[in-house]
Amino acid sequence: MTEYRTIKDLGNLNGKVVMLRADLNVPMDENFNVTNTARIDRTVPTIQTLMNNGAKVVVISHFGRPEGKGDMKNSLSHIVKDLEKALGKKVTFVDDCIGEKVQNAVNNMGKDEVLLLENLRFYDEEKKGNEAFAKELVKPADLYVSDAFSTAHRAHASMVAAAQQIPSAMGLLMAEEVNALTTGLNNPVRPLIAIVGGSKVSTKLDLLNNLVKKVDKLVISGGMAHTFMKANGIDTINENNSLVQMDMLDTAKEIMATAKANNCEIILPQDVVVSKEFKPMAEHKTVDLTNIPAEGWSLLDVGEKTIAAINAKLDECKTLVWNGPLGVFEMKPFDNATNKVAQHAAELTQAGKLTSVAGGGDTVSALENAGVANKFTYISTAGGAFLEWMEGKELPGVAVMARDAVKAAI
Ligand code: AMP
Repeated sequence: MTEYRTIKDLGNLNGKVVMLRADLNVPMDENFNVTNTARIDRTVPTIQTLMNNGAKVVVISHFGRPEGKGDMKNSLSHIVKDLEKALGKKVTFVDDCIGEKVQNAVNNMGKDEVLLLENLRFYDEEKKGNEAFAKELVKPADLYVSDAFSTAHRAHASMVAAAQQIPSAMGLLMAEEVNALTTGLNNPVRPLIAIVGGSKVSTKLDLLNNLVKKVDKLVISGGMAHTFMKANGIDTINENNSLVQMDMLDTAKEIMATAKANNCEIILPQDVVVSKEFKPMAEHKTVDLTNIPAEGWSLLDVGEKTIAAINAKLDECKTLVWNGPLGVFEMKPFDNATNKVAQHAAELTQAGKLTSVAGGGDTVSALENAGVANKFTYISTAGGAFLEWMEGKELPGVAVMARDAVKAAI
């Protein structure tokens, strides 16, 4: 199993300038108020650990989708207050991330102070993974630490090249994410079950193809299950009442064949909740697969039989990996299946019977809506990076931290 460099590998931090690549890409309202500080809060333990060990910490991050330098809408200066509050320390902002200004600010840094540099993506070189930019970036630092797991699927300059210039390691958050995902998928206690939901099969092909080779049981739900049901000959499902992707029927059959060849049991809906309209509390009913109305109703959730079947499968398993809601969880009562299965997984987790790892896209909101976000073993803050990990892809920002990938001088 791959081992990674962590802060401990960096040796004595006393008096050292540590540059920390965080993910501070937080949501913000039109008045530049941060509306959810989770990403700031989750990198605080790394900053504190570095400071407690005597390091001078310089924080860098991307933010939004800036259109070049000077795009004040996407300036990281807007988050200074929140970072100060989360840390309980003074944060000094520098309106650039490379150059003399940064070097001067580092030279003048007080003992109990943190530096926050301007948005990395104000430079095109960041996204291009440019090595010369990475060299400029790390110039004022002795050591480099990365906590931006959620950007680890991008080989951007601050994610890969920068970590290769000076001794580098993962921060606590990235180490925690990698550890949780390894426990979930790479080295799980079996039986291992995955739940994949969401709207369309086409967006999750790589994910499904990888999972059927790795997991013992795979629950497919949400809109994407309809294509599989249609491929299985359920004629009552059609393009008018569901998100069925007619051009994906053969693909769905191939995925099911690969699953069979790999002894992976696929669990599909046995009953569905159909609704007259796509709106909260619309008229709805639960029907068996043979009774799905052909016109005028949409399939928005799975029914109680399916919920019971999924929960029974969870009882047989030791590890769960979850991505995507089972139905349209944003509208009541079509969050029912997602809530009930999430609550059952949370109970098993709390009873020490199940290791549960979830993440990607809407999954975190779906589990928050179910009231179980802090009752799973681990919920990833990452979207794309979590999905790519589930797809079995190597994440460049993680790979660069492998012990045997040291171009940096550790
Ligand atoms: P994804 O981004 O692919 O993970 O999809 C998440 C979205 O899938 C959520 O917004 C859900 O509302 C939606 N979804 C789940 N089940 C269904 C369904 N049966 N019909 C339509 N949308 C669904």
